[in-house]
Amino acid sequence: MTGSAPEDAPLGQRVEVAVPVPLRRTFTYGLPDALQDAVRVGSRVAVPFGPRKLAGFVLGPAEPPPEGTRVRNVAGILDPQPLFHAELLGFLARAAEYYLHPIGEVLRAAAPALPSEAMAALRKGGFLDPGEALPGTRIATRRVLVASPAPHEGELPRLGKNQSLLLSLLRERGSVTLDELRRHAKNPRGVLRALEGKGLVNTEEREVPADRFFADEAPVVPAPDPNAGQVLAIGKLVAALDGGGGFLLHGITGSGKTEVYLRVIAEARARGRGALMLVPEIALTPQLVARFRGRFGDAIAVLHSELSARERDDAWRSLRAGRVQLAIGARSALFAPVQDLAVVVVDEEHDGSFKQEDGFRYHARDMAMLRAHRAGAVCILGSATPSLESYRLAQQRRLELLTLDQRATSQTLPPVEVVDLSRHRGTPSGQRLLTAPLHQALGSCLEAGEQAILFLNRRGFSPSARCGQCGELLECPACSVALTVHRAARVLRCHYCDFSTPNTGACILCGSPDLIELGVGTEQLEAALRQVFPDARVARLDRDTASGEGVEAVLDRLRRHEVDVLVGTQMVTKGHDLPGVTLVGVILADQSLAFPDFRAAERTFQLLTQVGGRAGRGERAGRVVLQTYQPDHPAVRFATRHDYLGFCESEMGAREELSYPPFAHMVAVRVDAGSEERAREAADALVRFARAHPAARDGGVIVLGPATAPIARLRGRYRFRALLKAPERPHLRAVVTALAARIDEGMGSARAILDVDPVAML
Ligand code: ADP
Ligand code: ZN
Ligand code: ZN
Repeated sequence: MTGSAPEDAPLGQRVEVAVPVPLRRTFTYGLPDALQDAVRVGSRVAVPFGPRKLAGFVLGPAEPPPEGTRVRNVAGILDPQPLFHAELLGFLARAAEYYLHPIGEVLRAAAPALPSEAMAALRKGGFLDPGEALPGTRIATRRVLVASPAPHEGELPRLGKNQSLLLSLLRERGSVTLDELRRHAKNPRGVLRALEGKGLVNTEEREVPADRFFADEAPVVPAPDPNAGQVLAIGKLVAALDGGGGFLLHGITGSGKTEVYLRVIAEARARGRGALMLVPEIALTPQLVARFRGRFGDAIAVLHSELSARERDDAWRSLRAGRVQLAIGARSALFAPVQDLAVVVVDEEHDGSFKQEDGFRYHARDMAMLRAHRAGAVCILGSATPSLESYRLAQQRRLELLTLDQRATSQTLPPVEVVDLSRHRGTPSGQRLLTAPLHQALGSCLEAGEQAILFLNRRGFSPSARCGQCGELLECPACSVALTVHRAARVLRCHYCDFSTPNTGACILCGSPDLIELGVGTEQLEAALRQVFPDARVARLDRDTASGEGVEAVLDRLRRHEVDVLVGTQMVTKGHDLPGVTLVGVILADQSLAFPDFRAAERTFQLLTQVGGRAGRGERAGRVVLQTYQPDHPAVRFATRHDYLGFCESEMGAREELSYPPFAHMVAVRVDAGSEERAREAADALVRFARAHPAARDGGVIVLGPATAPIARLRGRYRFRALLKAPERPHLRAVVTALAARIDEGMGSARAILDVDPVAML
């Protein structure tokens, strides 16, 4: 790109514009005199594109086009200020190049959605004068009903059961919102009205922030004095604030990594500079946000998926104008227009959710390093189980390694007991996955009034079903994936495309009633627990339940000890602080080992270590019971001992031997089409092209495939993939760049996607 002009300089007669279309190129437009004052580098503008108008992004001045080329004019400007500042725009342009993704689509993915008025105007072929169109910043609020006990002397009148329950709750807690009361009583509004009639309760409406992350007052907790390990880490990080630098903060769960981030960000703020904090799943981390608010107040942009378009737009503007200097969010917060960026933190940097798996496929951890590097900021990757990629960078001294090897509070890491499933066939309950050791551990945990988490990474009742008559495995009609049996919902469902069909108990192919359900999912485990421990309060957390009650509500119940045993998928392994939990049971550790993926062992080790880290975070010591058919697998053995370095060494050896990342660079070519033949042909053609490229022959670029993808058919499309692998990047890039150009020439009815540094192997 040519965007070298300073941000505030006029651009001249022609501008280079990134248009959100799937083309790996930019376009030249004329800039009429009337727009000379308003349009700058980074502005979002309306441009004619074919018969339509689209919202494009100005990258810089453009060279005069070749003689005789017709140049159309920019039609209008869509925001009062350039949307992207120089640092962010330069970073995004580089990211687009790195991932070989059309820059117009990259910028559109990064930008907040166009306000609906402007969108509507664009669609009609015009554009809006931003001066009149765009609202200013305001904090959205909602009115809530709050109840409080009224002063009352003397004897109470006769009250119903619900009335006296609510009254005693209010007397204990003071004022409580109606939402909160709903968790404790049925129809609280009616009960309140009755109590108000008797003069026992007052109610009033109050304005609270609509955003749930800001609805409660943040508890102000004094910052703890850093311990020796933290002092060392904080010292190095703060010293790097002037010139920037990359760091890997390897700290066991509960070692005080977050406290380190808080200190460094506080120092950046004291210097008037900006910070960006990325977390795997913002929806699961209200406690983290509360901790930041407690330390820094409410001038924080929390970027989460429940924000309305307008709230997102407001957050963007506040950051862009420098009114807010700290942004927290998941993957896409990477694009937040933080000004004068001094610190970028990626917490739980090993987490798979940092990889975007469709559209603009980027890895937020890698891009965080790039953005920080370009901005001269400090980048901190934090984890108890760093990815091998990051650890390798530390070994090569391209990241500086900081280590916290003690828990910050007095607790130690919980002991892990391994149960070999092949030796525990008979179980006390008859449920094969509740072995005697786990059964006993659960029993004594419950007896002591403590809480347990059981982790099983399969939702539904049974992961698959086979017909006893025709012998077929029941599969999704659109995907080569087994249908999962959901008993409560009475459906068979595909977990990849969400296809579902009523479960009548009969085979969907031959109609025989002889269906054999195979395997155990969370729904079945929950039912089994209710039977085996009838007095225990059991709850379930997976994508099926989360869409109903909500993740936070389930975790809240656990925190308030209204739940004794929580059964769940991956969702239970994330960094929640649950002090009452003393037992963690891993039902089937082998599950993630079975994936056809060279990272399966690493992912299993991370998962086991993280889920184990949930036990014993409070006053009482914790323990972990880990069930597996492969007790000798390195991922299991090292996780049992909380031995990250041991695992790392063993796995690095395996990767090096097989030339897999981090010892090689990879690009996946994913091809799909409506027919198997068409997909295979297209994949073959691309592989032949790549193999024939001179750089492939000279540079040791290995082309593997094409092969049928492990999920051979998805949403009705047949899938093939090839992998390009090379020890060094430059030759690989040359081949892949040529491949991109070949794809742009057209693939007929097939579709081809390049996935640079792929994570998902399915
Ligand atoms: P991590 O992010 O590594 O899991 P946290 O920063 O959340 O660790 O710290 C774990 C717990 O220890 C938190 O409750 C935190 O307040 C507390 N903590 C952190 N640092 C200290 C310290 N230096 N002294 C006492 N408590 C600390
Ligand atoms: Zn059948
Ligand atoms: Zn499907």
